[in-house]
Amino acid sequence: MLSNRQLFLHNLAQTSSTPRLLEIERAEGLYLYDPNGKPYLDLVSGFAVSNIGHRHPSVIQAIQNQLDKYLHLTVYGEFVQTPQVKFAEKLTAHLPSSLKSVYFTNSGAEATEGALKLAKKYTGRSKIISCNKAYHGSTHGALSVMGNDYYKQGYGPLLPDVEFITFNDQTDLNKIDNLTACVIIESIQGEAGIRVPDTDYIRKLKVKCEEVGCLLIFDEIQTGFGRTGKLFCFEHYGITPDVLLLAKGMGGGMPIGAFVASKQVMDVLKDNPILGHITTFGGHPVSCAAGLASLIVITDEELFNTVPKKEALFRDLLIHPKIREVRGKGLMLGIQLDTFQQVESASKLCVEKGVIIDWFLHCDNTLRIAPPLTITEKEIRFACKVILDVLDEI
Ligand code: PLP
Repeated sequence: MLSNRQLFLHNLAQTSSTPRLLEIERAEGLYLYDPNGKPYLDLVSGFAVSNIGHRHPSVIQAIQNQLDKYLHLTVYGEFVQTPQVKFAEKLTAHLPSSLKSVYFTNSGAEATEGALKLAKKYTGRSKIISCNKAYHGSTHGALSVMGNDYYKQGYGPLLPDVEFITFNDQTDLNKIDNLTACVIIESIQGEAGIRVPDTDYIRKLKVKCEEVGCLLIFDEIQTGFGRTGKLFCFEHYGITPDVLLLAKGMGGGMPIGAFVASKQVMDVLKDNPILGHITTFGGHPVSCAAGLASLIVITDEELFNTVPKKEALFRDLLIHPKIREVRGKGLMLGIQLDTFQQVESASKLCVEKGVIIDWFLHCDNTLRIAPPLTITEKEIRFACKVILDVLDEI
């Protein structure tokens, strides 16, 4: 009989020739457990998803309650589904008054796709500006705004009329002009290896977008839901984007995303053509119920307020001759080493020692640290000790 690993390699489409092949039987809180019961402390959160930990009891309860009512009913945007309504109500209550209309999707890439279409339809323009080293998803539109040609090889032609600017470079803002439909930008660049922009840059970007009449799309798919120490990262900069992209940590572990805009902007999707942007499963009732429960945990417990202290502890502990820099904000950190070989061996050894860390798509000399926001001081100390021990070994 074939093992699960063999079946994985046999029957599941492979995305690389070196998959991690870690088999996990269950997960709870901060830990994943393999079939032998070995615990792994999760410092990646399934890539910024499990912000309140794995299988949070409130999320499990909300899912169970919804399972007893209904699963899928019909395509998005037709029936009044209480989980969608309640989730959108709670979410928008935590957003500025200009972000009140939520379009639920299944994933982050779909949120990107919807937002790009929205910007083109709203402005009547086609030029899209994105950033070098950006990552907004892997579907065709999202890939078109990816700021790294390596990942586009073999997939062209992609969307026309996409131009790239350098993240955090004020002089490049001149490329935004009155032909521009939108600027799509991560509030902190994630896959670039965690690059935090200057507040002044983001404010000037916002002013420039207002000047030329294009939409500013903020991708908070990685940064949202408390990860950077605020519920949403744009709060750090004192600006409000025109469109907000959400996913990952939004669903408490269930698949869901959204693009959020003002009612005035969002209303262009309604007609001419009608049904020009639809989805069967977007805003699935079970995902919405889970997302609402997760948001209640994050906001009632003000989890984001615990984040700066945890960031400071990581920074205090992560001192080692092989560490060049610890970058980031909140619990979205990158530990820069010198080479990919170091990163690869360090993450492999950390996993062997029961700590899951990873790296980035566009930055191969940096380790990724994005634990659940619920991580404790004791766990941070343990994780950092393992990382430092491993850096001694490599
Ligand atoms: N945008 C950012 C900033 C991301 O980090 C990701 C995923 O890593 C996406 C978009 C795409 O999200 P998804 O994988 O849910 O399509």
